[in-house]
Order: sequence, then C-alpha cells, then structure tokens
Amino acid sequence: MFLETPIVPTLKTQSSNQMGQELYQLISELYPICRSITGNGFRETLKIIQKHIPLEIHEIPTGTQVFDWTVPKEWNIKDAYIKNSQGEKIVDFANSNLHIMNYSIPVHKKVSFAELKEHLFTIPEHPNWIPYRTSYYKERWGFCLTHNQYLELQDEEYEVYIDSSLEPGHLTYGEYFIPGKTTDEVLISCHACHPSLCNDNLSGISIAVFLAKHLSQITPYYSYRFVFIPGTIGSITWLSVNEKNVSKIKHGLVLTCLGDNGNFTYKKSRRGDTEIDNIVSYVLNNTAEDYKIIDFFPYGYDERQYCSPGFNLAVGCFMRSPHGSFPEYHTSADNLTFVQPEYVADSFYKCMSILQILDNNKIYVNQNQKCEPQLGKRGLYRAIGGQKDSELNEMAILWVLNLSDGEYTLLDIAKRSGMAFDEIKKAADALLENGLLLESNIK
Ligand code: ZN
Repeated sequence: MFLETPIVPTLKTQSSNQMGQELYQLISELYPICRSITGNGFRETLKIIQKHIPLEIHEIPTGTQVFDWTVPKEWNIKDAYIKNSQGEKIVDFANSNLHIMNYSIPVHKKVSFAELKEHLFTIPEHPNWIPYRTSYYKERWGFCLTHNQYLELQDEEYEVYIDSSLEPGHLTYGEYFIPGKTTDEVLISCHACHPSLCNDNLSGISIAVFLAKHLSQITPYYSYRFVFIPGTIGSITWLSVNEKNVSKIKHGLVLTCLGDNGNFTYKKSRRGDTEIDNIVSYVLNNTAEDYKIIDFFPYGYDERQYCSPGFNLAVGCFMRSPHGSFPEYHTSADNLTFVQPEYVADSFYKCMSILQILDNNKIYVNQNQKCEPQLGKRGLYRAIGGQKDSELNEMAILWVLNLSDGEYTLLDIAKRSGMAFDEIKKAADALLENGLLLESNIK
C-alpha cells in the first residue's frame, strides 16, 4: 500500500538529487583510504568525518581485554608490490589497496612461483576483479590480484615486498552523542574498517554522518549515539568499555550496504518484535516497492554483538542488498560505480523516516473520553461543511481521539487508520495544544 502523503515531508529540506550528491561526495572522499580494524587509515577516516560532525575519538590500547577478546596489535602499511625477474612491478599496492591481504605482516624476499602461489588470492569467475581478503587473527602475508593478472605469471623468481607494521598500538573508534529530551538512547552503528569498498561500509558511514548532522540541528526526543567502529572487534570493544551505560540504549540500527540498486532488506533484532522492528517494517511497507524483512540470525555485522544474549538490544540491520548476496561483495567491483547517489539518497530518506517516526511515536490519553469532544468550538473542525482546504485532517483527529486510550502508539493509530504517520502526528499535536490529549508516560 502506498500512502499519498509522504511520511516525513517536512524533513526533505533539500532535493533528493542534492542530498545524493553530498552523500556520494563523502563516499568518494573516503574511498581511496586503506582502512583496517586498527591503524592510521581508520584515524584518517574519522578525521574526514570530523569535518561534518564533532566526533569524539577513542583509542583503546593493544592487549586490552574486551570480554573474551583482546584488542589486537595495530596494523599500518606504506607500500607493497610483487616484482618479476625483470624488476617490473606486476602487482602494486599503489594501484589498489585491495592488492594486499589486510593485516599482512611485513615481508621482503625472493620467492619461487610455487611459494608465491601459496600467498595469492583471485576470483576466477570474475577475472577482472580483485578480491578483498583479511587475516586479522593469524599472522601471515598475502596479495590479492585479478585472475587475469594471475594467468600472466610465469614460472620464475619474484620479489615480494610488504612495508607494513604490526605492533602494539591502539584500536581507534569514533563516537558522536547528541543529547535529546530523554536520556534513553538510539544507537546508530556502522563499521568503518573496510578499505576501498563502497557499498559495504562507505554507504552506511556516509548516511550515518548526514543523519547525525541533521539530528544535531534539532533537539530530538531521544538521545542519539553514533558509533564508527571496526567490525566485530569494534562493537565488542565498545560494548565492553561502555557496559555500564548499555541499558540506556532502547533502539538501534546497524547501517551498511545502502548504496546499491537492490531492494531494501531489514534484518530484525534478535527479539524480533521491538518498536524499531515495527517502524522499519511500516516505513518499507509504505514507501518501498519491494523489500524483504528477515529474521535475526547470528552472523552478519555488528548486530551480532548488540544482540548477543547478554545484551539482547533492540538493534536491527538496515541494508539494500545484504552482504554476500551480490557478486561485487568484498571485491574491487564494490566501487564508485556500484553505488550511486540516487540509491544512497533513497536509503538516507528511509532512515530519516524511520528515526522521525521513532522519535515521535508516543502514546497519548484522550482527556475527554465520554463521547467525542466538540471540535468546532476549538477550531478543529471545518466551519463550513464540504470545505477541503484545512491543514488538519479531521479524520486523523477522530482516529487519534478514539484510539488514544493509553494503549495505542501513534504508529498503531496510523496503521489501524491507514493514514500517514505524519497526518496522525499533526492531529495529535493540534489536540495536545487544545488540551484534549495528554502524553502517557507508559510505553
Ligand atoms: Zn564486509
């Protein structure tokens, strides 16, 4: 079902086109950086984000115990290549940071083709793409190359050079807190540890930055916490360091893979029936042509940690094409062509609608429950029958009055009436102003 009135028309402050360009511009700026779960690429990424929002940067030392895990050594890289026996660079990190297996230990030696092959990764089905590979928890080295590059290799001696360091240092993450009217929090989380990959990581980061930018200009009802963390170890670290405050998080979303042309996919929280789960379903049902809602499963992104049984937070994962479902996933083809401004903008507006509903989804109590109150004398009902230019939708007023018995949220009323959330919200505001409703403190 499509609603005629957009759910959040008031939030569309700029054209979708312009918004798409801004989101895409940030993705493009972050694209060349060689990120990893630790190191200077991650810091550089946070510095660029700081040009948009005042991120607080946290540095957690290597060796810190975080639940069952340990913060790893910090990895940095300056250069890497493979040279053939003529001294020609046949694989060069300078051309693509995906050429190096992320977290490769330093190496500089001559190797036979047989030995070199043990350290090479390609994708034969997509011979022009470079795969993305990591080895965070086992110390080794490797190169990733296109299968066509691989096929040109001869049985000769090669020089391999990786100018990297893997040493005690820090795990870095960025956090931005926007205080609201209540200390209850909404968590927006995205991983920022992938190198030149656009859909899987940069699209979510860019959308989170612009959502934060918008929320910082208003005083939202909830307090909002945005975290930019390395995948898995980052959320584990963040939960460990902030364990005392985790109970303040009432709702949350992990944002990733939001820039491709696929249909939306929402992976529900482990609990499966939380307010955020219901709101995302509602927004997709009313604004997306085709979409998928899937149940929680314990692999994927950082929702795995937020939804581990010891926390069991109401955090879902919002995506277009889910990880692993598109061939470009974790390859050099997840690039600036694969994501497009129009899709990132569309995802951004969906997120805005979700947060707008979440932030306004209150329960009210009708103060005049015995029969309908007389709306005309309060200016809430058209004076002349048949007049249609009223700002307020009278039908929405009647729905809000009838269902505001302290049980129904505004979203419940929107669903039951089949009217847009925005109409219902406007009606509730007018009734509130006229003393006909009171906010319930039970939700
Ligand atoms: Zn990934």
